[in-house]
Amino acid sequence: MADVKVELINIVKEFPARRDDVPVRAVDNVSMEIYNGEFFAMLGPSGCGKTTTLRLIAGFEQPTSGQILIDGQAMQGIPAFQRPVNTVFQDYALFPHMTVLQNVMFGLQMENVARREARDRAMNALEMVRLPKAANRKPNELSGGMQQRVALARALVKEPSVLLLDEPLGALDLKLRREMQFELKAMQQELGITFIYVTHDQEEALTMANRIAVMEGGHVLQIGRPEEIYESPATRFVADFIGETNFLQGELVQVSGDSGQVSFDDDCTLEAMIDIPNLQPGQPVSVAVRPEKIRLQPYDPTKQPGNGLNLLQGHVQQKHYIGTDTRYIVRVGKNADLIVRVQNDGTDRLADFKTRDVVNVVWERDNARILAE
Ligand code: ATP
Repeated sequence: MADVKVELINIVKEFPARRDDVPVRAVDNVSMEIYNGEFFAMLGPSGCGKTTTLRLIAGFEQPTSGQILIDGQAMQGIPAFQRPVNTVFQDYALFPHMTVLQNVMFGLQMENVARREARDRAMNALEMVRLPKAANRKPNELSGGMQQRVALARALVKEPSVLLLDEPLGALDLKLRREMQFELKAMQQELGITFIYVTHDQEEALTMANRIAVMEGGHVLQIGRPEEIYESPATRFVADFIGETNFLQGELVQVSGDSGQVSFDDDCTLEAMIDIPNLQPGQPVSVAVRPEKIRLQPYDPTKQPGNGLNLLQGHVQQKHYIGTDTRYIVRVGKNADLIVRVQNDGTDRLADFKTRDVVNVVWERDNARILAE
């Protein structure tokens, strides 16, 4: 059993009504366990309650009900500054008149750590973020990425056992953000500190996290490893939010073991995996299939579905070349459009189609999931 570092038990956070408004339930009965040394991401759209959850762990907000434990100790009544956590915000707000070193030392000096020790520890933290040479420079002489690393050093210098990060790369341009994602992940692994990382960027969460909690409307919809969340989304929202997905709507015909059959467009049956309990035949459902799992083949009327393979006839509506792959929009059935991504790896010359081509659209049962509508 992994060792639990932070535990949230049935956390509710309600903000009182403002004037004529109703109270806002920003966090609605959230429970989760975050393991020691893991990189845990809370992912969801704006307003889903992820920042509030982080602020509750930090101690900047108090839960309306429920309990937060860190290292098994209840945090109720323990103020933010006495919790074994530190926070890095998107707006890293360095003091402009101080040098980088002074910025990093500041927190320690506030805690009356002796100047010499504070200096050594701050230099150590700057080594960790690979910025020792910038110690005597002012923040405005540094790039955005470097400033963000100073903010990290400022948090790391206090040696927290949990680091809370709220969209820390949000202000950086895309290229720098990608570089910092790898650096942050490497740093987290090196230091072995538990990271709890809030983001609305699914790619960022997939790249960096050991596990992800997907949130929506104050609820946790699914917690899992990136590949679990991507390959086996628990709900239609999760499938839609993480990456691109096609949904084919139909009716559940039957369930057998871990797969099921869905009638689609009157005369056709699709097979897909099913991991949601209690779905009943007759219920409206969606079959979710990722664009990169679908193959296009030259039209062949003699080919039949079966043996775990789904097969539909399709008409190419649009074709977009986007460098690494080609994106097709293919009409199947009466009026369902599928997005299909074919990688341009130069291996499959038969998979190059034109608008208006008739094609066979094929995907494996194991690569599709049945989700409740
Ligand atoms: P974002 O990425 O935009 O910050 P979020 O997912 O982090 O979004 P929260 O900031 O946690 O979401 O907000 C969740 C809900 O709680 C929102 O509806 C927000 O308006 C509300 N909320 C947050 N803080 C307060 C507050 N201090 N007073 C009243 N309502 C609040």
